[in-house]
Amino acid sequence: MPRLSPDVSALLDQCVALRRDLHQNPELSLLEEKTAAKLAERMKKLGYQVTTKVGGTGVVAILKNGPGKTLLIRSDLDGLPVRELTGAPYASRVMTKDAAGQSVGVMHACGHDVHVTCLVGVARAMSQLKERWKGTLVLVGQPAEEIVHGARDMLKDGLYTRFPRPDWCLALHVDAELEAGKVGYVSGYALANVDSVDVTIRGVGAHGAQPDKGKDPVVIAAQTVLAFQTIDSREIDPVQPVVVTVGAIHGGTKRNIIPDEVVLKLTVRSYSDEVRAKTLAAIERIANGIAQSAGVPENRMPVVTHLDDESTPATYNDPGLVERVVGTFRRTVGEENVVKREPVMGAEDFGRFGTEEPKVPIFMYRLGSISGERIAASKKPGAAPLPSLHSAIYLPEPKTTIRTGVTTMTAAAIDLLQ
Ligand SMILES: [Zn+2]
Ligand SMILES: [Zn+2]
Repeated sequence: MPRLSPDVSALLDQCVALRRDLHQNPELSLLEEKTAAKLAERMKKLGYQVTTKVGGTGVVAILKNGPGKTLLIRSDLDGLPVRELTGAPYASRVMTKDAAGQSVGVMHACGHDVHVTCLVGVARAMSQLKERWKGTLVLVGQPAEEIVHGARDMLKDGLYTRFPRPDWCLALHVDAELEAGKVGYVSGYALANVDSVDVTIRGVGAHGAQPDKGKDPVVIAAQTVLAFQTIDSREIDPVQPVVVTVGAIHGGTKRNIIPDEVVLKLTVRSYSDEVRAKTLAAIERIANGIAQSAGVPENRMPVVTHLDDESTPATYNDPGLVERVVGTFRRTVGEENVVKREPVMGAEDFGRFGTEEPKVPIFMYRLGSISGERIAASKKPGAAPLPSLHSAIYLPEPKTTIRTGVTTMTAAAIDLLQ
């Protein structure tokens, strides 16, 4: 049987209009009420069995089509606290207040508007092409990806128990450097473990002119930050990636007072469980060791806190699933439009869908989103580089991107559900 790419051109205009609407009306993490409602309403119209408010604003839409396997496809829903500067006629003008009461813009700067649109396109295509597949399709609109909360919240709320447990999970994410019309893939570890860690270095406060009367946590913090850099360079296997970044350091009030404590805020990135555990243990050991060498009293040793809420496991693309789906992509959009990409130390909470025992094979692929002309222009000498995801000027090329997203995801779904 020839494997034809599903004809999605009829859906495309509706998809582009939906994406414009979503782009103009972004919502921050945990607040994706309207976005979820738009998704749920369309899924219901297409005959999907829809459950809302799963793990917050999450949406689960199920289409049963006889006996067979179960495939879950996930889109995220949330925008970012970024004021849009793309100049697009449909640019977001939404403003809101952040936790500190500051006025911030809201923007789909990570392309989640494109992801939701592709999910609706796939829903439509799969309901029209029911004679070409069998089994169960579970389409998921997941909240709060940007704060790595939504996947955990949905799983805790019974995503794998209240609804059919998937045999595979797929997702796509726009790629800010890949040409629209192409898809990219990484087999194995694709995105990193994120561990958010606070290290509170405690000393003994004193007058700034009498350091001998105290234990200065600023000096201890300075030594600790530098010593953390030896974890990557001296302790971890050099061919294993790891990042220890101290992104914030807070301590003290006035130049002539030695404070009681200094707080370091770290983001720690890794791929394997072993490197992750070794790195976290080293952070604690180094912090304690430096405090001890400074003569900090036993009851003022550093406090190391792991923030589970702001941490997420690596995304491991199952090599068997990748091989199978990438084969489908090659037949669908052509060999030249399917490219191998490099893993990155960024993170995604989609990885969590693959960590619940018994583990489900997952695959997140990358969807090219920039026109060929823009990529070529960015390579000219002196030209500005392409904006990254989360940039105020990141703007995907909608039509080709959405068409490729819907075509590839639908083809993968049909091929898996045979
Ligand atoms: Zn993002
Ligand atoms: Zn994203």
